[in-house]
Amino acid sequence: MRTAVLLFCCLASFAAAAAPLATMTANIPVPPAAQPSAHFDPQAATDAYLALIPPDAKARSDAYFEGGYWLLLWDALYGVAIALLILNFRWSAKMRDLAERITRFGPLRTMIYFVQYLLVISILGFPLAVYEGFFRERQYGLATQTFGPWMGDQLKFVLVNLILGAIITAALFGIVRKLPRTWWIWGALVTSVFLVILQLIAPVYIFPLFNKITRLNDPKVTEPILRLARANGIPAKDVYQIDASRQTTRMSANVSGIGNTMRITLNDNLLRRGTPEEIQAVMGHEMGHYVLNHAYKGVMETLILIVVWFAALRWSLDRALARWGERWGIRGVGDTAVLPLVLLLSSIFFFVLTPITNTLTRTAEYEADMYGLNASREPDRFARAAIHLGEYRKMSPGPVEEWIFFDHPSGRTRILAAMRWKGENLK
Ligand SMILES: [Zn+2]
Repeated sequence: MRTAVLLFCCLASFAAAAAPLATMTANIPVPPAAQPSAHFDPQAATDAYLALIPPDAKARSDAYFEGGYWLLLWDALYGVAIALLILNFRWSAKMRDLAERITRFGPLRTMIYFVQYLLVISILGFPLAVYEGFFRERQYGLATQTFGPWMGDQLKFVLVNLILGAIITAALFGIVRKLPRTWWIWGALVTSVFLVILQLIAPVYIFPLFNKITRLNDPKVTEPILRLARANGIPAKDVYQIDASRQTTRMSANVSGIGNTMRITLNDNLLRRGTPEEIQAVMGHEMGHYVLNHAYKGVMETLILIVVWFAALRWSLDRALARWGERWGIRGVGDTAVLPLVLLLSSIFFFVLTPITNTLTRTAEYEADMYGLNASREPDRFARAAIHLGEYRKMSPGPVEEWIFFDHPSGRTRILAAMRWKGENLK
């Protein structure tokens, strides 16, 4: 469930954070090698921009980002270990038996099972979640919450998952039982529709549970943004702001929703610490997402990915159940007790597919960068924003590293694109 929802967060943000560099950001100079000249070299200009980042800030962001590579592996392994624990001790079968004693009504049985299951994995998963989401973020100066409010957010998150997860799980098991041979096709379709609906309602019903979202009323900020929007054929009338500083120091903006619920939202960290020209650069990028229809393309990509995922599930569940089903007390694919196995196989599937899902997102982000450059025609502004906003990403990864781990282009790739644009437009 969590992995599937994560797929949908892909259109967010030019992202990342800002504490240590904040002092030098207001006016990052255009370095000499990036000044217009007859022998302008995009590569040298890029290196000159990257050289402006203090070594200690670079070491810190590299360490944070590379730590994230390992967390990807630990998350997958930890999830697999929890699932194996629940299956091998037959906790899953016991939770199903309890649900069956409480009611005879199928969908309700599935929901009661799901509630028990989610509580068990939330408790078992807590040690890694608290390290990853709280201690590690604090260690790198990215978190703004103390433990109490952080924990409050986690409980709300579990509650949202409890309600949404119970609904989709009951629907999917209903499909599996009614259509034992073609469930994977119908299940994939229903899951995709569910995710689209979730994306439609999230800005209005889910995000406000965690943050305050308000209309931005400062014409000094909104007017240039709306001018840029109108010039690019975007019918936006309002710009929204979200108090992301409640949880984090990261600066970001995003375009969320589909159709009528589509809206531009800036987070308050960006508003407070970004210069007006950086805000414009970020907005040019966000408008690229809109004009290039990335929300709809994202839905199509997700649909394909989900069909492949369900086909893989069908294949692997049959084999795993034939081999271990009896030992784990699972009666078949239509038995709710199979859920930990589904999550186990899914976490392996999405772990293996990480480079592909990252590449899909990164490609769209790169397109939005190109659009933003052409819309704002300010490559130096763009390069500065890439430095300021790229702080908790590794700026200069190797090409394979970028391909596997980056869901946005690296800072180097972004600055190089801007400098190439600049070089060609000097001629
Ligand atoms: Zn983006």
